Amino acid sequence: MIQPDDPWGFEEEPVETWSDLLAAQGLDLTLLAAFLLLAYVSFHRKSVRLKYVTLAVSVAYMGFWKSNLLSITDVFRIVDWSFPPFNHNLAWYLFAGFTVVSTVLWGRFYCGRVCAYGAFTQLMDATLPTGWRVDVPKALEARAGWIKFGILAAVLAYYAVTHNTMVYRYVEPFWMFGRSETSVLLWTGIGLLLVATVFVRNLYCRFLCPLGATLGVISLATVFRIKRWGECSTCRICEKTCEWGAIKGPRIIQTECVRCDDCERVYADTAKCPHWRILDYKARKSGGPIPLTPVS
Ligand code: SF4
Ligand code: SF4
Repeated sequence: MIQPDDPWGFEEEPVETWSDLLAAQGLDLTLLAAFLLLAYVSFHRKSVRLKYVTLAVSVAYMGFWKSNLLSITDVFRIVDWSFPPFNHNLAWYLFAGFTVVSTVLWGRFYCGRVCAYGAFTQLMDATLPTGWRVDVPKALEARAGWIKFGILAAVLAYYAVTHNTMVYRYVEPFWMFGRSETSVLLWTGIGLLLVATVFVRNLYCRFLCPLGATLGVISLATVFRIKRWGECSTCRICEKTCEWGAIKGPRIIQTECVRCDDCERVYADTAKCPHWRILDYKARKSGGPIPLTPVS
């Protein structure tokens, strides 16, 4: 606004310094960085307890407190190549950057630990009686896994034509944490989805989520993949352990794996995994040292 003592507007607007920006966003950045560090440490240590702590923090902090998850609307930004101003959105860049880098490094790490909705349904799965679960037949599960890619393609096509971002409400349940919707229809849809999730574990993540599908596509370039043994083609213990339908014989299906650690714990378990028993048998036969740690 032009001031009376500066009618030509020569006086410049005060310039925001980095210390101003960090003072305004420092708490948000620090909490987010702390949460992402917790997620990484729980993943790196393969600790079941830390994983469930991370999932609980994800629901409480990322879901109900921050209520600012990544969304299909962030994928729309790529379509438009239009991103929020860097200086005022440092936490968004940290979050989005971490998600893309972690997906390239390890696959859908975001889905396995960071996303509050995924964390919520994983916690449901861990607390509800196992007898309530319905195991989806393998052939149906493999086909249903493609639905999320169809939804992703349809939503992107819709957005490219209409530029209407509000479509996210119909394909994502993330807004339930912020309770930003008042539509009875949409809340009924969320209710039905959660009831169905009681019986079919991680239903939305496995079959419906367009953001998960996007991360699944990026996961095809995963750098550090889960190791497999030669015995995996016949053993199948890990395949039965995987609750995400992400193991088929010796192969990990990158687009479905959320790096939950379950198979990796079996893989490193010298009492459960036949690979170790075979090595042990061979070592005893040849009189060599008994293997104690995984070898590549
Ligand atoms: S699949 Fe979607 S809802 Fe599930 S954890 Fe991933 S981003 Fe979240
Ligand atoms: S069990 Fe293994 S393959 Fe399945 S989702 Fe977890 S880490 Fe991925």
